[in-house]
Amino acid sequence: MLAKKEKKTKSVCIICRQEKEGSPVLDDPYIIAVRAIKARLGHATGNRLVVCAADIPKWREKRKRFEKYLMWYGLLAFLLFVAFLFLSPTLVGFIYVAIGMVVVMAFSLLTYFPAIRGEKEKKQ
Ligand SMILES: [Zn+2]
Repeated sequence: MLAKKEKKTKSVCIICRQEKEGSPVLDDPYIIAVRAIKARLGHATGNRLVVCAADIPKWREKRKRFEKYLMWYGLLAFLLFVAFLFLSPTLVGFIYVAIGMVVVMAFSLLTYFPAIRGEKEKKQ
């Protein structure tokens, strides 16, 4: 029997999906949640997620796109809530608005891209 258990954690680039060294991806609530789900399903790979140096420009583009979407969806969720306050501040209305806000925010995850260490986005 071959005990081919590699305990060493591999670094995998999240863009080119190759084993490479790079800037580590920062843990955020989304990554932690995905990892917890995978662990529960027994699919945890234990890989360390990084972005390799060659893919930094691609990463920056995707991250920017996500942040832009997140901002717009956040605004939309906020507008939903304001509309609710003005139009029908009832308990049933609140439940609908809460669901609507969750759905809207979930859409922003379609373009989700994690932050990485050492690459602080410069905001002007
Ligand atoms: Zn890469």
